[in-house]
Amino acid sequence: MAAICAYGFPAKATAGRVHGETAHPYRNPFQRDRDRIVHCAAFRRLSGKMQVFTAEFGNYHRTRLTHTLEVACIARTIGRALGLNEDLIEASAYLHDIGHPPFGHTGEDVLNRLLADSGGFEHNAQALRIVEKREQRYAGFPGLNLSREILDGQRYKMGTSKTPLLEIQTMDVADSIAYDTHDVDDAMELGLLTAGQVIHTALWKAAAYRVRQLWTNLDDAEFRRAVIHHLIERQVSNVIETAKHRLQKITSYETALKLPVLIAPSAELAEEKAEMEAFLLAEVYRHPQVTEHRRRVSLWLETLFRQYVKDGRKLPERYADVIREEGIERATADYLADQTDRSVKEQIGGS
Ligand code: MG
Repeated sequence: MAAICAYGFPAKATAGRVHGETAHPYRNPFQRDRDRIVHCAAFRRLSGKMQVFTAEFGNYHRTRLTHTLEVACIARTIGRALGLNEDLIEASAYLHDIGHPPFGHTGEDVLNRLLADSGGFEHNAQALRIVEKREQRYAGFPGLNLSREILDGQRYKMGTSKTPLLEIQTMDVADSIAYDTHDVDDAMELGLLTAGQVIHTALWKAAAYRVRQLWTNLDDAEFRRAVIHHLIERQVSNVIETAKHRLQKITSYETALKLPVLIAPSAELAEEKAEMEAFLLAEVYRHPQVTEHRRRVSLWLETLFRQYVKDGRKLPERYADVIREEGIERATADYLADQTDRSVKEQIGGS
């Protein structure tokens, strides 16, 4: 890790863990957090969970695990360029989507609706539930006993007016850079979106213009890949340059906490990103094929939910304490959230 600037969060300033532990001889607290997240079952399950598309769409697109890795790469690049704490950034990036149930936001919507009378379901809250309580890996405490800065970062994603650490801001902006870019790439590769449609967005147009300046002999696929590369490059460079300017007079992480979010795109780029997100919503997330898939998997999840709520004995033994303490609905939601897209499909009969 490169040297941390005055406004970066030093590992030695950590507020520690809920359950006190002795310092590790050669890993700082955030390196330890990162390793605990990577070694937990919920992290491994990300490989079987969709981002926007499932296996039935093809095999090119991102899964939630590869999305998580893209976010970590982008966030670390920005963090290193700005002199922030890369270990804290990396750990929070690995954690950020760990609470997603199968079938992405569709799965989340279904569980939230089914749990309307018992506290609802939200993926960021589920992430905290997993790492604070549900993962059982260590003899001395429940969950992963992560550093408070990592947990606070995840709480920030649940919506709060408090400004988070610059490292958490970096992870958050990298998340948006990753999905704004890879959802376009995936949708085009899968044939749900054409170059003729996406060229009308300002974000794509600017990157396409740059690629045409550099290359004149690319076929359609080569051109698209070059544009995707420039989309990421431009957003990352813009965030770094914009943040550098804003950080000029910041002398400590405490000062940055009293200010609005500083690690963000320029106003102009933010507008282009908002336009791209509206475009993705209309053309990709609400594409007839995606909508039909959503309808089908919603039915699967609802069917399984009702089956398990009706007969809790069908749930594996490790959910017994949740049934006892929080009721069958919450236990069923935990169980279903722990499934992959494929294991839901298999339980429903592979239809
Ligand atoms: Mg994400």
